[in-house]
Amino acid sequence: MLSRLPSARVFTLGCKVNQFESAAMAEQLQSLGYALSPGGPYDLLILNTCAVTDAAEKEALRLLRRLRRENPGATILATGCLAQERAAVFLQKAGARAIFGNDRKGNLKEVLEARAGALQLAAVGSGEARDLGDPALGKTRAFQKIQDGCSQNCSYCVIPQARGESRSLSLGRVLTGLESYARRGFREVVLTGIHLGNWGRDLSPPSDLKRLLAEIARVFNPSPHSFRLRLSSLEPTEAWEIRETLGEHPFVAPHLHVPLQAGTDKILALMKRPYRVAFYAKVARSLRELYPQMSLGTDFMVGFPGETEEDFAESLAFLRDLPVTYAHVFPFSARPGTPAATLPGQVSAANKKERAQRARAFDRARRGEFLQASLGREHLAIVENTPHAPSGRLKVLTGNYLVALLDAPAPMGELARVTLRAPQNPWGLAEAALRLDP
Ligand code: SF4
Repeated sequence: MLSRLPSARVFTLGCKVNQFESAAMAEQLQSLGYALSPGGPYDLLILNTCAVTDAAEKEALRLLRRLRRENPGATILATGCLAQERAAVFLQKAGARAIFGNDRKGNLKEVLEARAGALQLAAVGSGEARDLGDPALGKTRAFQKIQDGCSQNCSYCVIPQARGESRSLSLGRVLTGLESYARRGFREVVLTGIHLGNWGRDLSPPSDLKRLLAEIARVFNPSPHSFRLRLSSLEPTEAWEIRETLGEHPFVAPHLHVPLQAGTDKILALMKRPYRVAFYAKVARSLRELYPQMSLGTDFMVGFPGETEEDFAESLAFLRDLPVTYAHVFPFSARPGTPAATLPGQVSAANKKERAQRARAFDRARRGEFLQASLGREHLAIVENTPHAPSGRLKVLTGNYLVALLDAPAPMGELARVTLRAPQNPWGLAEAALRLDP
């Protein structure tokens, strides 16, 4: 009789932290003797969910039901913020065998040993952020999670309930992780966290990102031609604090993502965001002045309760005036248990959709302008391990977060010097001309 390794797959929805944690879970499954495969039949499926929007919830439940239907023999486990928050729905209606909490993702062995029928729901928010092992499986870039949880309590967000208080990975463990990626030839590591800019404040002695970057520079002295770091997302106050430090460390990619969420003080106050529009504008303009080529992304939420048509027009006008290079647009989605879910003045679905369309039109236009401004310039770009599927050509990602198609063979996973040219392909992607001159 043929024997085979049990097969497994991890499905992921949501943020970069979830992506990191899924890759780390996949790595653990391999070391536990599972074969990871893109096609079934599967013995074990893990769905890592996201609670940030209603759309993410619907997608998770749809995916779970599909997995259940297509894999009747598989054990299906669910984890992540949504599965934790809505355990009963996942177990009773959608067919998950068990749920385990975010805090258990780093110990799948224990989860799998204990899974026999029981609900494995861990308490959230205890102890140091877990080091989940290796999040680099099959990837061009490694994701290093250095912080978990959030203590900010924005009125629309379930993450503090789902992941608990902010907590940091120790400096030593961050450095060990980076050292391990560098040794294995990774040329880009993305530092991630739920509230990344809060890193270090809970450590003893307290620290912060400035000190972390200085320590990375001191220990590794990385050349930007052979190794770079990318910061995944920083709140405006933290971006302000770190803005000048970034210039001292050329190994940090010229790309920041700084969530705005709303462009009026009225809505920012209702959201319980700890800054006002004038401060955000100061941060964005200062970053643009210091780093003219930097990609500066933002999050923009439309249809928050109380947002009138006039408020939205003011908010969008404010966004248009900022030197941002792209905006992730989200319609507000009421998450059960959050203060915003019961605020008066809920906006109709039709109005949210229409506002999101207007904001996304701005996003598309601004991305196009940024691409135009980046053409003809030299960039350091990482050659992705997976070619662009429709064309079969190699794909690169620049430091300032532009994707382009390469015009010549180059080693995958390496940093290459390229000059960007105008798109000449049906996908609207820039052309990257490989620079071979010294
Ligand atoms: S900063 Fe606000 S939106 Fe971000 S995770 Fe914390 S509570 Fe949620």
